[in-house]
Amino acid sequence: MAGFSASAEPSALRVATSAPRGHVLHDFVEARVLPKIVGPIGPGNLQYAAMWKVAQRLTRKPVKFGTILPELLAASVDDEYYKDLVERVWAISDALNRELHDLADAGCPVIQMEEPQIHMVPVRGKTFGKLDTGDLVQLFNNTVKGLRDKTEIWCHTCWGNPSQQRIFRDVQSYRPTLAALSRVDTDAITFETCSSGTGDLEAIGETIKDKKIVIGVIDHHTLQVERPDQVADLIREALKYIPPDRLIISSDCGMGREGMSRRHATYKMVAMVLGTNIVRKELGLTEAECLAADPRFSLATAR
Ligand SMILES: [Zn+2]
Repeated sequence: MAGFSASAEPSALRVATSAPRGHVLHDFVEARVLPKIVGPIGPGNLQYAAMWKVAQRLTRKPVKFGTILPELLAASVDDEYYKDLVERVWAISDALNRELHDLADAGCPVIQMEEPQIHMVPVRGKTFGKLDTGDLVQLFNNTVKGLRDKTEIWCHTCWGNPSQQRIFRDVQSYRPTLAALSRVDTDAITFETCSSGTGDLEAIGETIKDKKIVIGVIDHHTLQVERPDQVADLIREALKYIPPDRLIISSDCGMGREGMSRRHATYKMVAMVLGTNIVRKELGLTEAECLAADPRFSLATAR
């Protein structure tokens, strides 16, 4: 982005406090060497539209583009230009909004805003820096301003996945911030409901009334592949509180980076589709194609 220094230096203090030597995330955080802010922030050479085009030209399926949100970026970098965090997050928000308009204008069919810190506020204290949940909702809505006229906007929330690790010792709940989350200006919102349990589903269904609700049915922390019947059970539980036309099935979070093998990740996705198909069949809906489980391609099948 414009406004950042050309070179980067490690921030020893940040590594020492968030992941001391001996912590599984130490090497990961230590290697995350970021430039600092030295001038006014702008989109610069983000090139989101170019990145999306390179991915989208490989498939006819719609490619969703995910982006960081201002508060996490603002909290991660040193700043020699802006007065404080508030000024910094709003500058980043305006710059991301400009870049995302270019992406939407290029034809990107779905943009996902990754990991707003709204649901993390009660866990971390009363605020995120100086920002409370109301400020973070305002910031989110500024970052996506005008985009829903051009494309579909999703909001992704989870309880963390660096190197497939939970960030918190105990299971967390969305309940304290669901009302705030319902005010983000999006078409869909995702919730982690597998690895952190299904306890929030009723409250989610009661609070989120005007958006699609995306639930996680796959745990991104564990190598044990879910069984399709487990996935189906979780979906049936969600359907007690969320109508099927507003329910979307997904994984709790991404399985990328270094934490999980492609084999585990692939078969977790296969289980997700097969489990969802069990429920689709019960509801009389069309089942999704699942090439990975199609017996026609088994070499053992007799002719
Ligand atoms: Zn996530």
